[in-house]
Amino acid sequence: MFEALRSADPEISSIIQNELDRQRNGLELIASENFPSLAVLEAMCNPMNNKYSEGYPGKRYYGGNQFIDLSEDLCRQRAKKLFNAEHANVQPHAGSQANMAAYFALLKPGQKILSIELPQGGHLTHGASFNFSGRLYNFVFYDLDPETGRIDPDAVRKKALAEKPDLVLCGYSAYPREFPFKDFGDIAAELGVPCMVDIAHIAGLVAAGVHASPFPHCDVVTTTTHKTLRGPRGGLILCREGYAKKIDNSVFPGVQGGPFDHVIAAKAVAFKEASTPEFAEYARQIVKNAKVMAARLLEHGYDLVSGGTDNHLILVDLRNKGSTGLEAEQALEAVNISVNRNAIPNDPQPPYIASGLRVGTPAMTTRGMKESEMIHATDLMHRGMSAKSESEKQSIRAEVLELCNSFPLYSGLSY
Ligand SMILES: *Cc1c(COP(=O)(O)O)cnc(C)c1O
Repeated sequence: MFEALRSADPEISSIIQNELDRQRNGLELIASENFPSLAVLEAMCNPMNNKYSEGYPGKRYYGGNQFIDLSEDLCRQRAKKLFNAEHANVQPHAGSQANMAAYFALLKPGQKILSIELPQGGHLTHGASFNFSGRLYNFVFYDLDPETGRIDPDAVRKKALAEKPDLVLCGYSAYPREFPFKDFGDIAAELGVPCMVDIAHIAGLVAAGVHASPFPHCDVVTTTTHKTLRGPRGGLILCREGYAKKIDNSVFPGVQGGPFDHVIAAKAVAFKEASTPEFAEYARQIVKNAKVMAARLLEHGYDLVSGGTDNHLILVDLRNKGSTGLEAEQALEAVNISVNRNAIPNDPQPPYIASGLRVGTPAMTTRGMKESEMIHATDLMHRGMSAKSESEKQSIRAEVLELCNSFPLYSGLSY
């Protein structure tokens, strides 16, 4: 495969090969990344890329959509079944566009949204001042409990009653505990406003029943399809039937033009995979692996925000180690371990430096690693963060490579 690419553009072809090798030969512990199946990757690389299909199945603004309609319909059906949802829109290009479309559907510019700030585990699109969200809407923020590092539903309710937001938003990019959907649904119901949930990170765990479902507690759910859900890069909105028309109109023509039909085909493949018993087992193993990793980090003397994890990610507070997130991230990159620096609640460092590391298990669990490999990986991380000499870094890199080689990735694929 890929002969045409190789001969037409050897430069890009070899850059892609190098990226594939980087993914194969390193420990991928970035909590938002994953390795979709070859079936998903193949589905994305198809001539549906060529089609314009503004609109929805049965009501398009272009001709020739009979097969595109079949694919998008199948994709929507599978999404609804997977998440037990009344309606699905599979067109958002990514999680950010899904959130934009959801806000546009539920609110007028200038209205008030209750959410949590980026440094406490929220997302750019949850009200950062430099993001479209913070520029178009009036965000008010609740805080994590500073003692426990957890969401305190009573404090959220107090803030909600004082601020009277027009939308209550529950969703996080760096929260290692169960998301309290019911509490947020109850708070929104008490105020008589919609409840929106963003499960971008945990969608795969929700699909597998390893994390509680946001339904029936909330009205609109947004997610990415490429994190724990292990699909193509993309977005998805699920909602109650009563919001279906508003959501669809908001995605197209409100926010986007033509959908990425080739990606929608790949989303359909991913949703099929995610409905299997094998995927449920995978999701259970993600959480087991994260718990083992958290326990091992504690043994090595690291502080963890909230003390541990219930899901796929761990937030390490590096302050007691005299290190910053930036330093740790760079030290680990030098030994082929990928993590990302992350703010911790009330971080004394600016976001570019940060005092925390976010570590996640979805990608390594996809490669087949289990508890014993997680202990080994954690020990390599620990050594990598304190390695001084080039020879020690060399020996860590060799161990990382050996571990990776025992769990092949995309066998047979080459550019
Ligand atoms: C990753 C993420 C998004 C956005 O995803 P993109 O596909 O990168 O636009 C939105 N919300 C949350 C909570 C996320 O973690």
